[in-house]
Amino acid sequence: LYNRLFYAKYEFNIIVLNKGFLKTKQENEINSIFLPLILGRILFLLSLRGLKMKAMLNIALFGPPGAGKGTQAKRIVEKYNLVHISTGDMIRKEIADGTELGKMAADIINRGELLSDEFVVRLIENSIATHKGANGFLFDGFPRTVAQAEILDNMLGKEGTPLKGLICIDVPFTELKRRMLERAKIEGRADDNEEVIENRFKEYNSKTVHVANYYKNKGLHIDIEGDRTMDEVFASIVEVLEKIKD
Ligand code: AMP
Repeated sequence: LYNRLFYAKYEFNIIVLNKGFLKTKQENEINSIFLPLILGRILFLLSLRGLKMKAMLNIALFGPPGAGKGTQAKRIVEKYNLVHISTGDMIRKEIADGTELGKMAADIINRGELLSDEFVVRLIENSIATHKGANGFLFDGFPRTVAQAEILDNMLGKEGTPLKGLICIDVPFTELKRRMLERAKIEGRADDNEEVIENRFKEYNSKTVHVANYYKNKGLHIDIEGDRTMDEVFASIVEVLEKIKD
């Protein structure tokens, strides 16, 4: 912040001098003392305003397929008035709308494999850009690879609004499988049959699981015991968010 203020002040003084505002030596001396002080103050107040405006609650919900991310995401988004960015929902919409992206994605998603990082990043870039004044973003099903995590951190870093936490919902494997098969019966999702479910777990264990370590190293990983009722899990998430939100 100090560096930014220093250079901003320096640049502004050069502009003022170039415009020929400072004429006499005396004026020059007075201005050289007061201008930087006044400018410094204005810039400082503006920066504070900027920082305050940018205090977003950006979090990511993480966990294996069937951990209950979607259910919890809806409740978190409502309570904290966040923009819900679910890459899975976005892809399903592209498929339903019959877009070019949707056509490219359909086979991959139906096999239970992950889409390419480029594909997914293109989807979320738009959402971030169109919701700049939001209270924050809840990323659901993203990032799913370390490359995606790095890209996300880079994007949010540029905006000065980094991720505040990766909430990891932890559920035993047998329970996950039971839930997924149950969901297949109820929702009829094309990627919820037994063979595809196996593939989704494989993808999770080979590519996605490393995202948790990536954020552990950054001190942003938060574990939530997910083998409980929806209300209990939600209460634990809220407890955590209350601590990290400001
Ligand atoms: P979900 O609804 O989050 O379980 O996502 C359903 C499917 O969409 C996944 O099995 C992937 O094929 C694809 N998908 C969703 N999010 C991503 C992502 N971040 N990276 C790659 N593929 C994704």
